[in-house]
Amino acid sequence: MAARGSAPAFIDHDHDHDHCLSDALDRAFSICVKRGARLTDLRRQVLELVWAGHKPLGAYEILDALRDARGSAAPPTVYRALDFLLNHGLIHRIESLNAYVGCTAPELPHGGQFLICRSCGVTAELNDSRIDAAISERAGAAGFSVENQTIEVDGICPHCQKSATIST
Ligand SMILES: [Zn+2]
Ligand SMILES: [Zn+2]
Ligand SMILES: [Zn+2]
Repeated sequence: MAARGSAPAFIDHDHDHDHCLSDALDRAFSICVKRGARLTDLRRQVLELVWAGHKPLGAYEILDALRDARGSAAPPTVYRALDFLLNHGLIHRIESLNAYVGCTAPELPHGGQFLICRSCGVTAELNDSRIDAAISERAGAAGFSVENQTIEVDGICPHCQKSATIST
């Protein structure tokens, strides 16, 4: 199967993000309906916060935003909501940043590969089955049993490269 690499991984900074957000919520809603899982108000709100942009958001930033919106938010409740969203593949955890980012293809389970801009923080998700297959093959040949196949790649996004050239 062709990799999902044909669409640009990094979207323009001036794209219609409301569209991303409503699309993500629609997909989350239908996935939960299909699996008989409940997208409670809090879970939906946490998902909305994670999807506030394309930058991974830390748990404390989520907590602060929830306190502003709801008046109170207990850390264990928020962590449980994050676990729910992770378990259903609606968000990913970026280990190197200890933060969460919305999944762009939540229908199928995947480890995912992430390109993380170290200048602006914007993160793009690649779900390239060729990379997954290469890792499985090489790990298998090494007698290694893979448990988590998430890859985090640091660098500079196209937008930041462009603004660096303009300012010099
Ligand atoms: Zn967007
Ligand atoms: Zn994903
Ligand atoms: Zn950037």
